[in-house]
Amino acid sequence: MKNLTILGSTGSIGQSTLDVVRHHRETFQIEALVGNRNIVQLAADAVEFGAKIAVTADPALFDQLTSALAGSGIAAAAGETAVIEAAQRPADLLIGAIVGAQGLKPTLAAIDQGTPVALANKECLVSAGDVFMQRAAAKSVPVIPVDSEHSAIFQCFETRNADSLDKVTLTASGGPFRTWDAAKLKDVRIEDALNHPNWTMGRKITIDSATLMNKGLELIEAFQLFPIGHGQIDAIVHPQSIVHSFVSYIDGSVLAQLGMPDMRTPIALALAYPERLKAPVERLDLTKSADLTFEPIRHDVFPAVRMCLAALERGGSATTILNAANEIAVAEFLSQRIGFLQIAALVEETLSLAERDSAITSLGSLDDVWDADRYGRETATELARNLL
Ligand code: NDP
Repeated sequence: MKNLTILGSTGSIGQSTLDVVRHHRETFQIEALVGNRNIVQLAADAVEFGAKIAVTADPALFDQLTSALAGSGIAAAAGETAVIEAAQRPADLLIGAIVGAQGLKPTLAAIDQGTPVALANKECLVSAGDVFMQRAAAKSVPVIPVDSEHSAIFQCFETRNADSLDKVTLTASGGPFRTWDAAKLKDVRIEDALNHPNWTMGRKITIDSATLMNKGLELIEAFQLFPIGHGQIDAIVHPQSIVHSFVSYIDGSVLAQLGMPDMRTPIALALAYPERLKAPVERLDLTKSADLTFEPIRHDVFPAVRMCLAALERGGSATTILNAANEIAVAEFLSQRIGFLQIAALVEETLSLAERDSAITSLGSLDDVWDADRYGRETATELARNLL
């Protein structure tokens, strides 16, 4: 039996993970489930899967969680420290599926215990960069990607032939506004942006997919996860989301991973690695698939990808500040305080103020990460306020 702890169990990735587990009860057991506000789901899952403990990050919801678990024998806890303690419990694998940089502390807490991590929470890597991966390397803890693109690269990347790598190409669906022009994007409504053509996901990543910031964050994530150089990663649009990414080698070979757009496939791989697990997903039948098409990213309309590559090139805390500013900008958009095009503009302006303030520094420790994160959040919040 493999003992799992799921951070963000009530979210989209968390629920898909539990669905894979549901089909393999004989292989997995649940140590701890961690959520935030969705207490009904958290308690129901804890009972269904016989978790030892259920934890909400929100201390105000402790009583509600305790009542929901009354008589089940399952322990309840609440608050940031309880989340970290849950991550530190002995487990064979921790699934990191909290949204945002707030997932960083508990995920690192698990790494410090030597627990292998299946990582969906890309903001951890974008925010903490080298600091995160160095911590995992110091403990010899494997970080297995859950993001579908990185799972594809993970499967196609020949570590033994890393010197023969030409480039890594991430595919992007292009989001709901793939064919829209900039003028039309001014009037995007929240419900339009939340209407992703291929994937059902949490709200933050769905907005990131609409701005293409998600692809930019993923390029940074790929750079952290795999031994590739700055000039060796790019992204193209593939509206069908069947080819999940590909790796090109110097001999002209291109290795791609294909599958239906269903996160339960990369999740199953991460749960079972180095083995494979039967996943409850529709099989890909290429004779029935629509044509597979590819097109360049329209950087003039969607500046986020170039912005992320520039921040990656800039190095140090530039990606931390970018991530923090983007988290604020997405929240402001979802609260209807800024428009769709202002999301990328807010991030860009935060980064140029960071240059002006000499706030982009090297990341030597987690304290440096928190300082940069705070700078990015405060600056972006201030900028958003001035836009009102
Ligand atoms: P959701 O918004 O659906 O879920 C987020 C989860 O995090 C929920 O369980 C939520 O709890 C929990 N949460 C929020 N704040 C806290 C906190 N402070 N402490 C502990 N838990 C918290 O997001 P997704 O599942 O879509 O995405 C999760 C991560 O995975 C993101 O980083 C995303 O970029 C990445 N990812 C997602 C993919 C997808 O298909 N969804 C694909 C690839 C990567 P609650 O709901 O109870 O409030």
